[in-house]
Amino acid sequence: MSQLANKVAFITGAGAGIGRGIACDLASVGVKICVADLDLVRAEDTVAEISDNGGQAIAVFCNTANEDHQKAAAHRCISVFGGIDIAVANAGISRNGSILELTLDEWQRQVDVNLTGVFLTAQIAARQMIEQGRGGRIICISSLRAIKTGAAVWSYSALKAAITVMVRGWAQELGPRGITSNAIGPGLIETPLASGLVGEIGSAIRREVEERIPAGRVGQPADIARAVRFLVDPGADYVNGSFIIVDGGLRDAPDASVLSKEIEAERSAHNSLAQSMRERMNHNLDLR
Ligand code: NAD
Repeated sequence: MSQLANKVAFITGAGAGIGRGIACDLASVGVKICVADLDLVRAEDTVAEISDNGGQAIAVFCNTANEDHQKAAAHRCISVFGGIDIAVANAGISRNGSILELTLDEWQRQVDVNLTGVFLTAQIAARQMIEQGRGGRIICISSLRAIKTGAAVWSYSALKAAITVMVRGWAQELGPRGITSNAIGPGLIETPLASGLVGEIGSAIRREVEERIPAGRVGQPADIARAVRFLVDPGADYVNGSFIIVDGGLRDAPDASVLSKEIEAERSAHNSLAQSMRERMNHNLDLR
C-alpha cells in the first residue's frame, strides 16, 4: 500500500487543467481528494474521472477569494474524509494588461484570487493540520512568470512572485510543526487557461515555444502533478520554503527576439488591412 494512501488532499481549482491533473494523480495512489472549484460541473467531472479509476473524491463549490466559501469547503472535506493532510492552492486567473490599460477591477480580481485565495487556503489548512498534530504539506501553484515578466504580464508576475515569498515565511513558522510549505512554478502547460495555444496564432505560438524549449514540447498537467507527488512524499520533508520550477528548461531558453514569422505575417496582414481601410476612409472623406 502506498505511503500516501488514506491521506486527504484539499485542492482548489481542481475542476480543470493543472488542478485536475494533480487531483487524479494523487487519487491514483490512494489519496482522498476534495475538489474545490468555482465551477461545480467541472469539479464533478474530476470526481467522476477519479471514481472511474477507483479513487475517492468529493466536489465542493468554492470561490477561493471568499473566506466563507473556503471555510465551508474545508469543513465539508474534514467532515467527509476526517481531516486535511495536503493542501494545494492551485486556483488562479490571468488578466493581462499594460500599466496604462489594466483596470482597478481587473487588478483587484487578480489579487483576490491569486493572492488572497492562496493565503486563505494555506491558513485554513495550516490551522487544521496543527489541530490534527500529524504534520502536513502546503503546496502553492505559482508560475515561471514569478521570475520572468513582461509589459502585459507584470501584474500576474507580481502576484506569482509574492507566493514564492509567502511560502518561505510559512516554512519558518510551520516547519517546526512538521508542515512544509513550497511553491511550484509551471512553465507553459496545456490547459484551458493556456487557451492562447489554440487557433491559428496559437499553433504558431506553440511551434515557436516548442522550437525554443529544451524539452521540445509544451508541458502537461501530469508534469506538474509529478512535482506535487515529489513534495508530498514523506521523504521530501527536508524540502521547505522552496520554489520548484517545472518548465522543460524554458526559463533559460533564448528569448523570442522577434515574434514568429507566422504571427508577424498575421499582424502585418491585419496592419496592412487596417492601413488600406484608413486610406480608403481618408479618400472617401476627401471626396466629400
Ligand atoms: P485553468 O483555467 O485551466 O483551470 C483553473 C480552474 O480553477 C478551473 O476549473 C476554474 O473553474 C477554477 N477557478 C478559477 N478561479 C477560481 C476561484 N476563484 N475559486 C475556485 N476555483 C477557481 O487553469 P490552469 O492552467 O490549470 O492553472 C492552474 C494554476 O496554474 C493557476 O494558478 C495558474 O496561474 C497556474 N499556472 C498555469 C500555467 C499554464 O500554462 N497553464 C503556467 C503557470 C502557472
